[in-house]
Amino acid sequence: MLMKVEELNRVLYVDLTKKDIKVKDRTDLFDAYLGGSGVAIKLLEEECPTGIDPLSAANPIIFAVGPLTALYPTASKTVAMFKSPLTGNLGESHCGGRSSMAIRLAGYGAIVITGSSDILLYLTIDGDKVKFRDASSIGGMDAQTVGRILREAETGSGVRTIIRTGRAGGKLVRYACAVSETYRHFGRLGLGAVMGSKNLKALVISADKSVEIPKGKRKEYRKVYDEIQDVVVESDAMKKYHDLGTAGKLYEMNKLGGMAYKNLESASAPEEIARELSGENFANKFLSRRISCSHCPVGCVHLASLRELYAPGYYFKTTTIPYDNEPIYAVGFMLGMEHAEDCLRMIDAVDTVGMDIMSTGVVLAWATEAYGKGLITKAHTDGLDLQWGDVSTYLEAVEKIVEMPTEFYQNLAMGVEHASSVYGGQDYALAFGGNEMPEYHTGIACYINNLTGARHSHLDSAGYTLDQKLIGKEFSIEEVVKSLIAEEEWRQILSSLVVCFFARGVYTSERVVKAMAAIGLENWSPEKLEVVGREIHRAKMNFKFREGFDLAKLRIPKRIFEVPTPHGLLKEEDLRKAIEIYGEIISAQ
Ligand code: SF4
Repeated sequence: MLMKVEELNRVLYVDLTKKDIKVKDRTDLFDAYLGGSGVAIKLLEEECPTGIDPLSAANPIIFAVGPLTALYPTASKTVAMFKSPLTGNLGESHCGGRSSMAIRLAGYGAIVITGSSDILLYLTIDGDKVKFRDASSIGGMDAQTVGRILREAETGSGVRTIIRTGRAGGKLVRYACAVSETYRHFGRLGLGAVMGSKNLKALVISADKSVEIPKGKRKEYRKVYDEIQDVVVESDAMKKYHDLGTAGKLYEMNKLGGMAYKNLESASAPEEIARELSGENFANKFLSRRISCSHCPVGCVHLASLRELYAPGYYFKTTTIPYDNEPIYAVGFMLGMEHAEDCLRMIDAVDTVGMDIMSTGVVLAWATEAYGKGLITKAHTDGLDLQWGDVSTYLEAVEKIVEMPTEFYQNLAMGVEHASSVYGGQDYALAFGGNEMPEYHTGIACYINNLTGARHSHLDSAGYTLDQKLIGKEFSIEEVVKSLIAEEEWRQILSSLVVCFFARGVYTSERVVKAMAAIGLENWSPEKLEVVGREIHRAKMNFKFREGFDLAKLRIPKRIFEVPTPHGLLKEEDLRKAIEIYGEIISAQ
């Protein structure tokens, strides 16, 4: 069945308390803010009352896609927005898989979920048919099993996505994630916990429509489509992401001395560990296949096959495990793993319970250091002897974070910012704005990014990339801050379209304008995109400020000033100065 381009403007509102739905035309929002992040932040402003508990029924969940979704290559992501239970302000997470295609081809540009159900349920959305289904029989299950069961229970044709939580979501671990299509995640900032607090185990979204290109535009669309497809397929970046995946950069980052190793005890692992945990080694030993998000030719999602003895006296089992740059950093480098196999076992364990792997790795790295320094003892850890590289103990710790047998694990389940505020060790509690850090210790730009980025994610403004470009060059702090703000503003456009950030080099502002015009959306120019990108960024920051985020009160862990970066040792006064400049710029514009 064909649908018009404008049907993107339909927003599905689902009230879990009343088990009620409605559909509204929100052309006002999509015309002004494109889709994705731009529309989602506006819906969040409308639906999220100021100061609410993120785990209360009042916290909305918004999923949004964009005007290029299902029409152009790599416009393959969905934005989820909510108030984060981890940071207490903006929660925003992006995921690929089939989620974006399914939402758009089901006939929606966004889905707003409010309220809380009295029983555990899952939602099925099949075009205009929305059903509330009892999920009590799958409540305690991990995300992979839930996916398998719902795939069989909810048959149908067309494109389908199953977005679900694991056990960590139901237990309200503040960094629980949501999983889509087994290997893709709404990873960061606790969407899984918000779903858990609403008694929402999963969404099954099915679609069988196609978007119709307006008459008179088909030739132009085909031409622009082919141009984008060619650039995507031929670009070096895409080849790199296909061949080794994002894991391909781990070894080089370690060699540069910009890799947080063992809770940033140093900025590089020993050479033999770096080789063992490199993307090359994972590919040589374990890579079994590559998969892609819908409508993406890249195939950056790398799956490993891990063959292990099932149990003494039994034969082997083979597990398929997705691996990537960030998971290998978080549970490999950060936890001092010495074997790639151990790293894969950790990735699988964290995935199985459904937690954000970056937060989990950083939380466990802090706990290991705090334990080594005697701040916490076996009484806290429920008998676990946390030691770098000890995979068996870490596997038990992952389970305990979910099951929370002691108060210590309840605190760990709230993130490293919170746990360190209870037990001490804040100097080496590596969270920025409340979100656990990514791998990069590359220079001042990556930390300005982590501290000021709307999501406190390395992807907000890619400060780590700027740091690398600036090695050996003279620069002022003000120039760095301005450059990061400009990058973050432009990324609002990409995440409103919603294009995968890996294709950011393909979607220049000129090409975005061409792509929009070729589907009949002729109102856009590079200048207008720039203005709207800034507006979306400020709307996100305003939401954060409204919810209590304060640049002047940002905690900066001392550890980052003690370990040299590729630019040498950082100074706290420089970073504070950068935050001040950042505040002045965004409040002036
Ligand atoms: S590049 Fe990778 S993450 Fe991005 S859309 Fe393609 S497969 Fe998905």
